[in-house]
Amino acid sequence: MAQEYQGGCRCGQLRYRIAQDGPLLNYVCHCLDCQKSTASAFADQLIVMTDALAIEGRSMTVEFPRPAGGVSTHYHCPDCLSRVYNLNSVRPGMAIVRAGTLDDPSILEPFAHLWVKRKRDWIAVPEGMATFDENPDPAVFMALAMARRG
Ligand SMILES: [Zn+2]
Ligand SMILES: [Zn+2]
Repeated sequence: MAQEYQGGCRCGQLRYRIAQDGPLLNYVCHCLDCQKSTASAFADQLIVMTDALAIEGRSMTVEFPRPAGGVSTHYHCPDCLSRVYNLNSVRPGMAIVRAGTLDDPSILEPFAHLWVKRKRDWIAVPEGMATFDENPDPAVFMALAMARRG
């Protein structure tokens, strides 16, 4: 029986449910693009398969061509402008959901920190955490994620 997690934008108009087995796959990215797009120190993200993700409500999209190829499409609530998730044309079937939009983000524990060379000095990464100076090799990254899932 799959577990269900729920979340949504700040105003509650754009909502989602995630139905999957095992813990949510949470990672943190400290890159400068993530700092800009969150207007914060880092991005707190969830890897969710799109067949486990059910969306309700209206969304507004913004497309970003990626330097490595492909287009990242970001889904925002058009009323409160929270960014809730994004899809990437080079990774069909996989959504990246903003972890801070979960109704109960206190359950999360990241499995990796990316772009730690851009990390703010005051952020302490827990000992034993998988860290990468920049983007990890996708196969290495997904193996880490699947190990967390168990
Ligand atoms: Zn909203
Ligand atoms: Zn990033």
